[in-house]
Amino acid sequence: MDIVGWKFFPLVVGLVSFLLFYMKTVSKLSNAECSLLSHDHYWIISKRIVTPTGVISGAVEIYGGNIVSVVKNYHQQAKSSRGNVIDYGDAVVMPGLIDVHAHLDEPGRTEWEGFLSGTKAAAAGGVTTLIDMPLNSFPSTVSEETLKLKVNAAEEKIYVDVGFWGGLVPENAYNRSALEGLLNAGVLGLKSFMCPSGINDFPMTNASHIKEGLHALAKYKRPLLVHAEKELDAESYSETRDGVSDARSYSTYLSTRPPSWEVAAIRELLEVTKDTRYGGSAEGSHLHIVHLSDARASLDLIKGAKISGDSISVETCPHYLAFSAEEIQNGDTRLKCSPPIRDADNKEKLWDAVMNGHIDMLSSDHSPTTPALKHLEDGDFLRAWGGVSSLQYVLPVTWSYGQKYGVTLNQLASWWCESPAQLAGQGLKGVIKTGNHADIVVWEPETEFELDENHTAHHRHPSISAYMGKRLTGKVLATYVRGNLVFKDGKHAPAACGVPILAK
Ligand SMILES: [Zn+2]
Repeated sequence: MDIVGWKFFPLVVGLVSFLLFYMKTVSKLSNAECSLLSHDHYWIISKRIVTPTGVISGAVEIYGGNIVSVVKNYHQQAKSSRGNVIDYGDAVVMPGLIDVHAHLDEPGRTEWEGFLSGTKAAAAGGVTTLIDMPLNSFPSTVSEETLKLKVNAAEEKIYVDVGFWGGLVPENAYNRSALEGLLNAGVLGLKSFMCPSGINDFPMTNASHIKEGLHALAKYKRPLLVHAEKELDAESYSETRDGVSDARSYSTYLSTRPPSWEVAAIRELLEVTKDTRYGGSAEGSHLHIVHLSDARASLDLIKGAKISGDSISVETCPHYLAFSAEEIQNGDTRLKCSPPIRDADNKEKLWDAVMNGHIDMLSSDHSPTTPALKHLEDGDFLRAWGGVSSLQYVLPVTWSYGQKYGVTLNQLASWWCESPAQLAGQGLKGVIKTGNHADIVVWEPETEFELDENHTAHHRHPSISAYMGKRLTGKVLATYVRGNLVFKDGKHAPAACGVPILAK
């Protein structure tokens, strides 16, 4: 450096220090926007805190985004000595819900949902983590490159933590390095279909693709999620579609996807899941059946596989537990989904399986589209997009419809928090305990509300939600994600500071 350079050296140092200070201040400011609370060390107290060992009266201490202690019988005296205490009285403090099955459709089909609207709805509904499905966005998440597009699209738009499933499709199933590239890039597991998915760039897989997928997943100890329906009579399905006179009738649609499709798919899967057993060639992998609807033969097959030692689990969704075929009105395509919602007796059997632990967890399968593609106007069940929109309401829906069956708060936490955390490999989530992320929902299980147009829905298309017009019990007061109060009394934090979750 010459003499002139040295002369300016103190000025340069001064400028750099100022810039560093400025950047630090700015980042602090933006952190403050992540939360509706101004401090990051505080206590939440309540008479009903849902812990793995039961519901306790006490306090949860939160510092730096984590739970640092859980204390029973937190007295008034201690309360006054500590400051930064939020007293929720007898409102329930529970782990935030983890939805392992949501379609946010971004990039590519943001007009269907999107990260911003979808995660706002999640936060308002007490869902603190969701795992996005690899399809309905465009392109589908089937490679390292397309995962990067997803993660970039989510940047600064997510109010809750979001993980990603990758797609297992014929194109990558036999290409181990492509699959490993996708897994190394951070997907939490894979997802595939045994029937057409409805999305052109997400073709269906057969049992041989699925076997390859499980073997690739074994060393990563991550799951394969499968849509288990297999077309047995595709011919008659298309015939019905063409010469239809009663496409507005739900029974027309129901008859196109009988329970035998689920049974056939599951039978085939169980040939492959033998490899997941202890000592098997794909030990370490796990197969998870998404949105089971048939609570008869399909469920019996799954129960048998569990007894045989297959590493297998199953979910169902609130719409299968809330509705039955008999009550679906002609033209009400909001309730079209696949597999379809079946008869009332099947619904009772599903509840029985959930209550007895044969169904391991619940998920939303939030799969919205535009009102036009849902065919709300003409009510054509055969042409309508299949998918139920429900993300914001899954907690009150499960609770409301579960009253009749005596659902407990601990069961709710098991189906919606603990088991989903295990499936998605999220060891620091799903349970209120020291060391875990402070992902918490505070809600009032006794408060009823009308789900009408006065109720603020944050989904992109509230009109397609299956639950509009229902009276529900269980109101979400506040949602915390990693210690940030992201939703309170109908308002969201100014900035979306959820974290994209990538497996390592
Ligand atoms: Zn789905």
